[in-house]
Amino acid sequence: MIPSVLPTYNRAPLSFVKGEGSWLIEADGRRFLDLCAGIAVTALGHAHPALVKALTDQAGALWHVSNLYTIPQQQALADALVGATFADTVFFTNSGTEACELAVKMARKYWFEKGQPERTEIIAFDGSFHGRSSAGIAAAGTPKMIGGFGPVLPGFTHLPFGDHDAVRAAITDKTAAILIEPIQGEGGIRPLSDGCLKGLRDLCDATGTLLILDEVQCGMGRTGKLFAHEWAGIEPDILMVAKGIGGGFPLGAVLATENAASGMTAGTHGSTYGGNPLACAIGLEVMRHVSDPAFLAEVNRKSAVLRQKLDGLVADHPEVFDSVRGTGLMLGLRCKPSVVDVVKAGYDALVLTVPAADNVLRLLPALTISDDEIDAAITRLDQAATAIAAHVPA
Ligand SMILES: *Cc1c(COP(=O)(O)O)cnc(C)c1O
Repeated sequence: MIPSVLPTYNRAPLSFVKGEGSWLIEADGRRFLDLCAGIAVTALGHAHPALVKALTDQAGALWHVSNLYTIPQQQALADALVGATFADTVFFTNSGTEACELAVKMARKYWFEKGQPERTEIIAFDGSFHGRSSAGIAAAGTPKMIGGFGPVLPGFTHLPFGDHDAVRAAITDKTAAILIEPIQGEGGIRPLSDGCLKGLRDLCDATGTLLILDEVQCGMGRTGKLFAHEWAGIEPDILMVAKGIGGGFPLGAVLATENAASGMTAGTHGSTYGGNPLACAIGLEVMRHVSDPAFLAEVNRKSAVLRQKLDGLVADHPEVFDSVRGTGLMLGLRCKPSVVDVVKAGYDALVLTVPAADNVLRLLPALTISDDEIDAAITRLDQAATAIAAHVPA
């Protein structure tokens, strides 16, 4: 008999009743150190007092009004994002996949309005993840995601991640945009080099192609800059944001330049919930913290500490871990035994991590993780690795 919850997830037998910063408390009272953070969502940790206050204050005043009206909280969050980034304009969504939908629509509409309606092709990359909508799965293109869901939305080309010559060769007079994650998350914490991002920007500039960056996972302070592309010193035309921006409340956004957004006039796109007062009041509070240079400096400092300790962990457990990769607090440990077994051993050691492709264990702690909690993370990962090593044939 089918479970009452549609069984599209392989769920761990864990059920949490409370969150406090970097900790999750299980129904049986056990305290887990959370290096998953809702998959890079709870950027300020669980139950951050400022977010609880922003939510409850707004909940007591007004949750929702239609986008038929002006929404001051939405205006304030858009102004904050525009003020802190390359963008001239913002559309709010409830998720990353909806941000993908709009990014693709915006790029195609741009060329339509420029009188080149044949420019509809989007170049995307192997190993990518852009969400589970029809455009999102077409953009990723992996058999696992598109299998059985045909006909697949047409107009997507897939190239090897980071293969610059392949991109150069693939851009034609039908190309609308390049869509890429500066650091692949689901794909296994695979960073694109700064040189490669710069090269993509140059190719886009030379051909008029729009550069869409998907920073749903790597954005909002995760890498130690507000957005990961800032490390390369380049700017996209369109940016997809979600996950961390709501700190756990469903919120996403598409940021764009005035030029890239020029086709999106009244009536061309919309969302019932997107950018409602409750979501934006919370997003504004997240943004206030995460865009503070002192906050980002702390993310960078803690990243260096964690990374050094992870290097030590890899050295201590060469039979379990192969290497560390990633940037900021978006780190991955490539595993030798199945990553799924390492994640499970983590449950026994009371530490929560996330599996990714390429047999990589993802560490996506709250950006507010403390030095003591970093020490606890290493102790618990060490315990998990020791337990795994006992079962790995030498
Ligand atoms: C999670 C994710 C998405 C999809 O976001 P949802 O909110 O789950 O729809 C898209 N792109 C990237 C890079 C992601 O990590």
